[in-house]
Amino acid sequence: MAKKTEKEIKNIWTYDPAPESSDHIQLKDKYDLYIDGKWVKPESGKYYDTSNPASTKKIASIAYGNDKDVDKAVRAARKAYKNVWSKMEPSERAKYIFRIARIMQERARELAVIECMDSGKVIREARDVDVPLACNHFFYYAGWADKLEYAFPNQKVESIGVAGQIIPWNFPLLMAAWKIAPALAAGNTVVLKPAETTPLTALKLAEIIHEAGLPAGVVNVVTGFGDTGAAIVNHHDIDKIAFTGSTGVGKLIQRAVAGTNKRVTLELGGKSANIILDDAPLDQAVEGIVNGIFFNQGHVCCAGSRLFVQENVADRVIQMLKARMETLVVGDPLDKNTDIGAINSKEQLATINKYIEIGKKEGADMYQSHINLPKSGYYCAPTLFTNMSQSSVIVKEEIFGPVLTIQTFRTIDEVIQKANNTEYGLAAGVWTSNGARIFNLTTKLKAGVVWANTYNRFDPVSPFGGYKESGFGREGGLHGLKSYVKLS
Ligand code: NAP
Ligand code: MG
Repeated sequence: MAKKTEKEIKNIWTYDPAPESSDHIQLKDKYDLYIDGKWVKPESGKYYDTSNPASTKKIASIAYGNDKDVDKAVRAARKAYKNVWSKMEPSERAKYIFRIARIMQERARELAVIECMDSGKVIREARDVDVPLACNHFFYYAGWADKLEYAFPNQKVESIGVAGQIIPWNFPLLMAAWKIAPALAAGNTVVLKPAETTPLTALKLAEIIHEAGLPAGVVNVVTGFGDTGAAIVNHHDIDKIAFTGSTGVGKLIQRAVAGTNKRVTLELGGKSANIILDDAPLDQAVEGIVNGIFFNQGHVCCAGSRLFVQENVADRVIQMLKARMETLVVGDPLDKNTDIGAINSKEQLATINKYIEIGKKEGADMYQSHINLPKSGYYCAPTLFTNMSQSSVIVKEEIFGPVLTIQTFRTIDEVIQKANNTEYGLAAGVWTSNGARIFNLTTKLKAGVVWANTYNRFDPVSPFGGYKESGFGREGGLHGLKSYVKLS
């Protein structure tokens, strides 16, 4: 067969636009706080804008909740805990949680589109990953609600009380589901604070929870900024804090709860290693690398942001990866052909660009896809760096964008040492066709999750969480349920 010209290759990857419709979504212009089963105005009287990072246009006004609103929400949650939720038959609790899951499924298309608009993530991921997984978390934990004595046999199982839950902007609906579903199943009530830039799907979830008829005060959603989160952390009547976000804020929270009776779980940052051995199926591994770092614009706590390739296949893998990067479609998140959507905010784009500049200054070699980025909105071309040292800033620090660093290694011991040489320990990936090598590496890598011949796969049954500065506590599976019960 004749070799294809560059133009012909380019044409293979040129698609007509295929935007998902947003006609069917229902959004209000202004959102209040969801407290005690009602939409209430914020005490401050203030609202801020949430916007679409793909266009920078405003979507809606969002209430700014302060410490007085948080206090109202905690009181409502306490009352609902004491009078209703902790007393309810577990099988009845389960019915409510199943109902939430089913309504989410019915409104899956709407949730997916709103998630894209508010966060910049691509519709394919929101539709095929975020929303179905979020529904599945509710289904999964609903199943445990009336089986807690089987989940923790020979132990007395009690709920904890009021949980304060604070979540980031990278998987807004999914993080809300990870937190709310196990809390409710175990009999706790909730005050949730979504991230400033992505409040909309948590507010839609509040509508769904309302529609499911959950008793007032069982779930409360208080939107706002970092100080709203801090007000939850510092509230005297909160029994448990569940936080997902940056290591910096995680440390502040840990300090704030020291000496109190509050339980805490922290799901923090990462700088995860993706390791390609020379016997790996290289085509699949390249897809795994792409998925590991470019999925969700690299806004993934467990992104495979440090690539380690065995030296004898490194040139080939880097060449294949560069060719694949040229075919990635960057642009409108609502287009079904888009691989890489918008960076979540102007601030995050500035952070990513700052790291790209640091990488260049440190003397690393940079390669970026040759693509025209959209003129408006916040976008970043897929980027990789080679020729850095273990001590380079871009190797050590979490960038939280589509930026990959590549290092090589000769022996397995060397790559274990290099991969573990980080303050983080959230996830890792191993690519090889040799099962014994997988078991050897998975037991020696200090990471909460190790994927073998795949990357960024999640399931409600499987616990997720970190080592070292990636936090502690697990979410998902029975481990996730355990964080919401008292055992004796
Ligand atoms: P962030 O700045 O730490 O914010 C996370 C949440 O905490 C937001 O709702 C934020 O509110 C709130 N917050 C900010 N300051 C606070 C304070 N002093 N006290 C209490 N709450 C406060 O993190 P992010 O930039 O949104 O998210 C990215 C980070 O999350 C990355 O480091 C990523 O690795 C990590 N992450 C980890 C996991 C995991 O499972 N380990 C999963 C996803 C993301 P505002 O939005 O209003 O600032
Ligand atoms: Mg937004």
